[in-house]
Order: sequence, then C-alpha cells, then structure tokens
Amino acid sequence: MKIPFNKPYFTGKETKYIEDAVKRGMISGNGYYTKKCQTYFQESFGFKKALLTTSCTDALEMCAMLANIKPGDEVIVPSYTFVSTALAFVRQGANIVFADSKTDNPNIDETQLETLITNKTKAIVVVHYAGVACNMDTIMAIANAHSILVIEDAAQAICSRYKEKYLGAIGHMAAFSFHETKNIISGEGGLLAINDDRFINRAEIIWEKGTNRAEFFRGEVNKYGWVDTGSSFLPSEIIAAFLWAQIENIDNIQKKRLQLWHYYNNALVNWAHAHDIKLMPEPEKETNNAHMFYVVCKSMAQRDAIIKYLKSKNILSVFHYLSLHKSQFYKNKHDGRALPNSDKFSERLLRLPMFYELDAVEVVKALVSYKTPR
Ligand SMILES: *Cc1c(COP(=O)(O)O)cnc(C)c1O
Repeated sequence: MKIPFNKPYFTGKETKYIEDAVKRGMISGNGYYTKKCQTYFQESFGFKKALLTTSCTDALEMCAMLANIKPGDEVIVPSYTFVSTALAFVRQGANIVFADSKTDNPNIDETQLETLITNKTKAIVVVHYAGVACNMDTIMAIANAHSILVIEDAAQAICSRYKEKYLGAIGHMAAFSFHETKNIISGEGGLLAINDDRFINRAEIIWEKGTNRAEFFRGEVNKYGWVDTGSSFLPSEIIAAFLWAQIENIDNIQKKRLQLWHYYNNALVNWAHAHDIKLMPEPEKETNNAHMFYVVCKSMAQRDAIIKYLKSKNILSVFHYLSLHKSQFYKNKHDGRALPNSDKFSERLLRLPMFYELDAVEVVKALVSYKTPR
C-alpha cells in the first residue's frame, strides 16, 4: 500500500529513553519513567490517580474488578464498540445489556438509559467514539440517581474534553489505550484513571498482583503481602520510557492530527454532498482530538465500492465493529432487542487513513475521482 491506514509515529527520543531506563538498572514496573508518566497524566488531565497498564483492555479489567462485578450483575455497554469494552466485564460474570448508538454519531444513546436500568445494574460503560465525548452531564445524573458506577472507555479520547473537563476525569474510573493505532502510543499499553477516592488504594493492590507492594515502596507499611485479588497489570519501565517520549511530543502530535482532520473536513464537503455521504459531525460543546476521520456512507454497497476503489489507488481505508450484540460470542446471550443505529454504523461507517505522516492530499485526490457505478 502506498498509503496505509495507520503508521505509528516515532518522535525520535523513544530509544534514547529506553536506553536510559536500561542504564538506570531497573526495568520492571513502577519505576522512574512509570512515575513520570503517571504524574503527567494526573497533573495535566485532572485524574485523582493514574496507573499505567499493559493495555486499555487490562485497565478495563481492573475497572470491572474495582466495581466488584459479580456473576448475574448487569452492565450497560454500547453495542458499537471494540470487544474489550464488554469482555472485561463478562470475565467477572456480568450480563451485558447492550445499548444503541445515537442517530447522528456512534456514542451511546443516553436517552435510552433509564429504560435499560434494573435493580441488578452495577455500571454503565460509555465509549467516547472517535474521541468525541458522550453526553456526560445526563449520563452522570442518571447514574448517580441510581447509585450506578460510570466507567469511561476513553481508549480513543486522550486530550479531548467535555465542557471544562478532560475525558477520563468525569466518570468514577476510565481506561485509555496507547496501542499503536491511537494518538500517543507505546506499542501495546494503557492507563487506568481513578476519579473516586474510594477506589485508589484497591486499584494499586489489584495492579500489583493483589499485594500492598506500592504502599511498601512508599514506606507506608514495613512489609508487604497478599491482601486482595489482582493480577500483573503494570507495564515494564521499557514501555513507560517509550511512552514518555510520546508524551513529550503530545502537543505537536495533536496539532498535526487536527490539521489533517480539518483538511479532510473542508476538502470533502462537495464530494460527500455529491454522493449522499455524511462526514463525521464536527464536535460542538465537546472537543475534537482528531483520533479519527470517518464518513457514513448511504449504503454498505457504496462503502464497499469506495474501499475497493481506494485500494485500486493503493490507499487503505477500513470499517470496523460488528455490533457486539450480533457477535458469535454474544448473540445467544443478548436479550433480542434490535439496535438499529449500532447496525447502521456497523454497515456504513468508513474510516479514512489518519496518522502523523499522512499525505491527506493524495487521499482526497483519489476520493474525488471516485464515480458512482451505474
Ligand atoms: C483500542 C480500543 C480498545 C482496546 O485497547 P487496547 O489497548 O488494545 O487493549 C478498547 N476500546 C476501544 C474503544 C478502543 O478503541
């Protein structure tokens, strides 16, 4: 492919910091670079506690453990999302109650939440799709009225805000991803953000294999041992050192991605109109972190034709997310409700290439030369 869908961007300092981590003589987790990254996230985004994890999936698993999800508990999750959003809770025994997307964007339709809540509902997981905020005022008000936890799957949402607050700082807890397809990366990697004091202590314990090792390191207890459930959720210093190089460049990365996003958004107006295609709505109250530029085609056939056409020009565009309520794993466990908006985005959403070094002019040139087949 001349233009791939994604290309990880390296700032140039990654190997220098990894070398430094090696020279420091301590490359397991929770060391110098881990602390630098965590402090940065807490101070810049307003999370009460930030813990690096080996993936966003792991951070979501920690959320499910912290929320004390037990077999039979219900968790509300949008159907149009990545598998991990639901899987992390299924592993704890939860029954997933899938929610539909909104009509005009793939985020969870908050107006349907009240009808999905029962006395078994323990948590609502929201996904800020494409880094665009869900309607958090309404969601938090509904959840608080029912004493339900809100967990933000902010995998795509770094640097994005809802009103004055950064995404990931609004719900009780949140999970971010630094997978190489996200805005800032560490190969595989993630972050758990905790905003409710009740969960901070236990989060550190679950993070460190069910031990109070983090407290011991701070000198708060004189020996450490097995005190709770947990796993090995913390990444090595090598990953954290890599991530630090990305963090140092985050403003530059965001500036470039936003330029690309606005270029697409302006250059494709006439093209979209001519083909009856909708461009990704530009966020208003919420901010845009340019994680993604997508369009919604008028049909699945049109989307497939455009993907094929771009491929013939050596450009890779992609679609994603089969509605989870229709997945092989969950379709027989789903309660049978139709989720038409989720299905619509599943069938018609198309993602254009988006990465730091992208030549978006080439992509636009190819798209405007596309002719609707007769
Ligand atoms: C990327 C992504 C994940 C998974 O992130 P990993 O770091 O690969 O575990 C989860 N949810 C959403 C919405 C994502 O986009």
